[in-house]
Amino acid sequence: MHHFNYRDNELYCEDVPVKKIAEEVGTPFYLYSHATLKRHFMAFNEAFDGTRRLVCFSAKANTNLAILKLFESLGSGLDIVSGGELYRGLKAGFQPNRIVYSGVGKRIDEIDYALNTGILMFNVESLEELELINKRAGLLKLKAPIAIRVNPDVDPKTHPYISTGLKKNKFGIDIETAIEGYKVAKSLKNINVIGIDCHIGSQITEVQPFIDALKSIKVLINRLRDLKIEIKYLDIGGGLGITYNDESPPELNDYAGAIVKSLEGMPLQLILEPGRVIVGNAGILVTRVLYRKQGKDKEFIVVDAGMNDLARPSLYNAFHAIKPVVKSEDEPIKADVVGPICESGDFLAADRRISNVKKDDLLAVMSAGAYGFVMSSNYCSRLKLAEIMVRDDKFHVIRARQDYEDLIKGESIPPFL
Ligand SMILES: *Cc1c(COP(=O)(O)O)cnc(C)c1O
Repeated sequence: MHHFNYRDNELYCEDVPVKKIAEEVGTPFYLYSHATLKRHFMAFNEAFDGTRRLVCFSAKANTNLAILKLFESLGSGLDIVSGGELYRGLKAGFQPNRIVYSGVGKRIDEIDYALNTGILMFNVESLEELELINKRAGLLKLKAPIAIRVNPDVDPKTHPYISTGLKKNKFGIDIETAIEGYKVAKSLKNINVIGIDCHIGSQITEVQPFIDALKSIKVLINRLRDLKIEIKYLDIGGGLGITYNDESPPELNDYAGAIVKSLEGMPLQLILEPGRVIVGNAGILVTRVLYRKQGKDKEFIVVDAGMNDLARPSLYNAFHAIKPVVKSEDEPIKADVVGPICESGDFLAADRRISNVKKDDLLAVMSAGAYGFVMSSNYCSRLKLAEIMVRDDKFHVIRARQDYEDLIKGESIPPFL
């Protein structure tokens, strides 16, 4: 459910006509609904009412400061995967002891930054990383709180690029090795073992893979107890899917209920790291039609947003619904919606039945709030887009559109040229 609805054939975000924003800020732009963001976070969090848990919004899904600040104010923690995300999280006001740090490739400077900040825990992804964190913590005269990210080898039945909990994936440590890892961790002077972590993938539309993962983890927790290693935090990652087209992901209460039930009798504090399910359907990408073009075989709608602005279609062949900002009476047509970039992979939709839009009409690319702006680039020296947040009947620019000066910031021509 979201707050992007038609009134008299015109698309609104909450109480603001999308067209009005386009007239004032130009196109393309990302547009988020405050009410939707808030409701999605609260609904997720409340689905776990009665259970000790910390919901750590996964920053990489959408790192805009205003959005992070909103979740912080609603009681969220933060799941980060880089020093940059830690910096943003702190800027947005997150308490360090509500931040967890995942990722297979943490650098020394990032580890030191997180240690000095005093985060809740590192989700460690390899034995070498464990040794390094121990060493850095020793130098800083600190104890590093850690969980080991285990790879439970379950198939999340999602796109291969966003499945992370299979043996063949680079993430986590398999269960057997994890036991060795915990033994090592326990023996290390500057490591404090407090948790266990797993994250099996993204855009998962069934409950079962989560439950399968928990099953392996429960076995592991019991084996660790036999070794006198007590686990306090169980971080089960994120990954819950959303409806882009015709997917029917589980209801939040069914997802939460199944997890809570599976952990009955285990005195653990849960950590959850939802990203997409909170922000995905709370944002859209608004773009303007530049040209209509009739190819030999197909029709093209050329718009002013491209794969550098929204990478998901070209990266994962992902589906995003595309709706007209002002509905017309015309029969829909079939066309490819393509961007201005010099790559054939530059499309937002292929062979799509779509409204019969004309030059200068506006289109809304739906479900673009997660992995949208954050994956955008300056490819072809295109300016990164503005981001707008609507609350009730007002809109706020939460990121200014880049200008040409921004494009060359930090570049320099050496004296010999
Ligand atoms: C990306 C990521 C998430 C969030 O995944 P969603 O599918 O957006 O919920 C959570 N945890 C980790 C470790 C991640 O890498």
